[in-house]
Amino acid sequence: MTKPVLFIHSIQQKDNHTFTIKWHDGKVADYSLSDLQKTCPCAGCWDEGNSQRLVDQSKIPSRQSAVKISSVGRYAIRIQFSSGCSNGIYGFDFLYEKGTK
Ligand SMILES: [Zn+2]
Repeated sequence: MTKPVLFIHSIQQKDNHTFTIKWHDGKVADYSLSDLQKTCPCAGCWDEGNSQRLVDQSKIPSRQSAVKISSVGRYAIRIQFSSGCSNGIYGFDFLYEKGTK
């Protein structure tokens, strides 16, 4: 079976700490910037070799905001958080999955 192709219809800021993605299939999901930063897959936050988080989760503000959210090709978005990490790249697969829960 081939995986369905995911794409984002629109991204909207909901408030300073949350944004909403409307997916191609009509699904709408809210994403907390704080939650996303805690799962940031970039090399500064996550040591892939040791499967270890490099950032103390308790130091990530629960009301995190973003400076900028931009798209990376057709498969991911990049979030520049207002503090801590500015290089979090989140694949559509990941976001779509996360939004179903
Ligand atoms: Zn990061």
